[in-house]
Amino acid sequence: MKSNTPYSDTSSLLVESCSMPFCKGCGHTHVLRKLNDALIQLQFAPTDVCFVTDIGCIGLADVMFETVHTVHTTHGRSMAFATGISLADSLLSQGKLKTIVLIGDGGAMIGLLHLVEAAQLNVDMTVLLCNNFLFGMTGGQHSAFSPLDFLTPTTPKGNITPPIDMCNVLLASGATYVARKLATDKSLTETIAEAITHPGFSIVEIVELCTEHATTRNEITGVHLTEVLTRHNQTLGVLLNETERGDFSFQYSGKYPANGNLPFKMEGKGIVPSFTHSLQNQIGIVLAGSAGERVQSSAKKFCEAAMRCGLSATQKNDNPITQGSGFSLSEIVLSPSEIFYTGIDEPDVVIVVSHDGMKELEEKEVFSRLLPTSILLLDEEIEPPALDATIVRYPFRKEFGGKDAALKALEHYLGHYPVFPKEAFHIS
Ligand code: SF4
Ligand SMILES: [Mg+2]
Repeated sequence: MKSNTPYSDTSSLLVESCSMPFCKGCGHTHVLRKLNDALIQLQFAPTDVCFVTDIGCIGLADVMFETVHTVHTTHGRSMAFATGISLADSLLSQGKLKTIVLIGDGGAMIGLLHLVEAAQLNVDMTVLLCNNFLFGMTGGQHSAFSPLDFLTPTTPKGNITPPIDMCNVLLASGATYVARKLATDKSLTETIAEAITHPGFSIVEIVELCTEHATTRNEITGVHLTEVLTRHNQTLGVLLNETERGDFSFQYSGKYPANGNLPFKMEGKGIVPSFTHSLQNQIGIVLAGSAGERVQSSAKKFCEAAMRCGLSATQKNDNPITQGSGFSLSEIVLSPSEIFYTGIDEPDVVIVVSHDGMKELEEKEVFSRLLPTSILLLDEEIEPPALDATIVRYPFRKEFGGKDAALKALEHYLGHYPVFPKEAFHIS
């Protein structure tokens, strides 16, 4: 279970210098004010709080809270990011962080399985789901939460699909704290505070109105919300508050006790350096060939060999959706120290062993990014491009066949530029 640092400052965390970014009367304003009140009440250090948001009007929450950590993610993925953030904090750090997700109808719909899984695992996070029955930011289209008969641009004669009861979905998924409140409910502050301190997954579905789209098309105001919910058998209040089940990190560390600070380290299975290397600086190698010709597995072997020599290595692969035809690429980064950037802006080495690989690199304009110090290692069958870089040609395909061309080309590179001994590459 987590402990939090008491924070003596009880001033507002909201940026008071700018007004709320939402339309007049929007329920989101109530949500952010009550979230702010809850955080003041809980007195957590702002650095112990992380907001995770995504697309939609409520996603503007992060700019309104300057002092807490904020992560703005892709649509619907907030819960997945929050899962990673929460687990990293629990398992690798001090377990103090309070991870709070703010999403709307869109985030909940697109991220439905992420929500279900976070509840299933009982990941320590709080989801504030702002349900205003529609997609406000994109023009007021109906959502899976729209009540029956609700008028929107996409349901001009009234919605005919019953709304999803997200609280019920998450109760069925194993959520341990589930509440549904109106944004205007005075007790919302206490409910949010209770959810944030809950050990495990908590969701507060906050029902509110989009004044830009909902109230302009429907005969509905805030006083009708309880009636709308009742009509769809959706209960207000705290529906479950169960604290017996340990959160996911608690269960996880019970099964897989931390090995030092790294719970994922598997004793005896890691790569132990047994050779030395001569690499001074980080280098980027692009290996290009054809699908089905062991390009990516050769790159993996090469990275493992580099690690056997005490180097850090990363590998990124690319191939067409078809997998078995067309090009196959691997981007390899080697470094004598930890790698913080895995991209290759200006490749130090480019190795091309087939026409498919060449075509792809030309389309990606990789050759225009080569420096005069770069090395291009090319199969003899391929016409070399006009370059300032050093070009080395060798009949890899003719001599070793397509299946071994990539592997032999990497070995050939080590023969010319021994950044680490070839022997390390020969261990399978
Ligand atoms: S469009 Fe709707 S949800 Fe978005 S800020 Fe305006 S009232 Fe709020
Ligand atoms: Mg919405």
